[in-house]
Amino acid sequence: MGLLEGKRILVTGVLTDDSLAFGVADRAQREGAEVVLTGHDRALSLTRRVARKLPNPPEVLELDVTHPEHLDRVRDELGQRWGGLDGILHAIAFAPPECLGGDVLRADWEQVAVAMEVSAYSLKALTAGLLPLMEAAGGGSVVGLDFDATVAWPAYAWMGVAKAALESLARYLARDLGSRQVRVNLVAAGPVRTMAAKSIPGFGDFEEAWNVRAPLGWDVRDPQGAVARACVALLSDLFPMTTGEIVHVDGGYHAVGA
Ligand code: NAP
Repeated sequence: MGLLEGKRILVTGVLTDDSLAFGVADRAQREGAEVVLTGHDRALSLTRRVARKLPNPPEVLELDVTHPEHLDRVRDELGQRWGGLDGILHAIAFAPPECLGGDVLRADWEQVAVAMEVSAYSLKALTAGLLPLMEAAGGGSVVGLDFDATVAWPAYAWMGVAKAALESLARYLARDLGSRQVRVNLVAAGPVRTMAAKSIPGFGDFEEAWNVRAPLGWDVRDPQGAVARACVALLSDLFPMTTGEIVHVDGGYHAVGA
């Protein structure tokens, strides 16, 4: 029996087959889950196309996480389809160009607000929007994708600040939703070459640093699907008493100083 047999999982953030979320959807289906994807804006047709590469091509619902009416519609559609929801993957991040690549002094509040809303607040918006379905299922697991925000990185700038907010928010959501049996955890991934990563000028510096320092080594194509495996484990029943946690899937980079 698969790890996710009988689980109903919503996966956001599939843009290409390099997307971390694509790996999660793929492995989740192979582990027996029923999966629905969401796609965003002009890339919706891309998500629909890439969905056909999954073992069981799933339905794709439109979701811009900054539009509350989209969240209402996704909840209604999943409610009609499944009646409940066992898991959510949050794999959503965006920052305007002024927020990335240089120093934090460059961006103004208007630009920073977009980064914070899409990349951090959206975890609350998504979780709260779909909470009635997880309550109907007797609880659930929310997993978000993170990049270690305990230190300042080159080039990551306001996205780093947004990830720090995401980490804190995940802890507060874990605290506030534990009594409803909803677990909220993050997977802090090492650098993987996706569309989002390529949009960060200076991303190559991360690759080099990981090459030198990660005790287990690191490949930016994530050939073992290590990030997806961790997400699937957290979406499964294998971690029933784990919430507010950050699991590092980074070859051990975070644990060593030099
Ligand atoms: P990706 O394939 O580019 O995925 C990012 C996704 O976020 C895209 O599907 C994008 O859709 C979506 N998105 C952006 N704005 C949105 C909005 N308003 N509403 C709904 N969706 C929106 O890149 P990825 O690297 O797999 O990123 C997934 C997550 O992993 C992100 O949280 C990222 O920070 C995190 N992460 C990535 C790495 C890495 O090195 N790649 C490392 C650690 C953590 P559109 O393209 O249509 O906007």
